[in-house]
Amino acid sequence: MPNLKTWFDDTLSLLYPRLCLLCNGQVHKGDHLCISCEMKLPETDQFEMSENDFTEKFYGRLKIEFGAAHYLFGGGSKTQELIHAIKYKNKRELAVHMGKMYGLKLKESDVFPKIDFIIPIPLHPIKFHQRGFNQSEAIGKGLSEALNIPQVLDVLLRNKMTSTQTKKSRYARMENVGDAFCVEHPEKIQGKHILLIDDVITTGATLEACALTILEIVPDVKISMVTLATGE
Ligand SMILES: [Zn+2]
Repeated sequence: MPNLKTWFDDTLSLLYPRLCLLCNGQVHKGDHLCISCEMKLPETDQFEMSENDFTEKFYGRLKIEFGAAHYLFGGGSKTQELIHAIKYKNKRELAVHMGKMYGLKLKESDVFPKIDFIIPIPLHPIKFHQRGFNQSEAIGKGLSEALNIPQVLDVLLRNKMTSTQTKKSRYARMENVGDAFCVEHPEKIQGKHILLIDDVITTGATLEACALTILEIVPDVKISMVTLATGE
């Protein structure tokens, strides 16, 4: 006789079939992605290495403790579709789930350092308004849950666009890294190890600008970085 819980779960999944968060195809019970999508997301092994293609992007520019991207773009991969679904199809839940999946991997890594705070790259306010959520923050939420590390949203901010507002900012912006980001409440991260989160790394310029802005204000902070995908 089938046990009652199994019977109940099966009945429930017939009534409310869970669909793949990426393609809306059928999934195995309890899964969030279908097998086809799962197989077409090529993972990197960067999380297992302290030096890799990710950290190499910052050689001679910035010292980072750890850096890794979960998935590669590439011929026939679903990585582009994944990023597109998160950014333009409003799939916040997918971003949180992917963050959680990578968090569980990082937990198993021998080289993943002890992190105090997760800090997502803030979204430009106009994009935030269009999209309704910050994809890096959603990925960070999943990572935060899996790794049990708090995510901090009030330290790294986008600079206001008008010059009068910029002048009112508590901390001077940096001419050499552009004026996109600023730091508030620097005391929160003093002497801490932070993990910066972005959806995709290509040249690393955005992550570098954020890191340099933070280091200018809080020089004794340690910086690591994680992204969902790597574009190169
Ligand atoms: Zn799928």
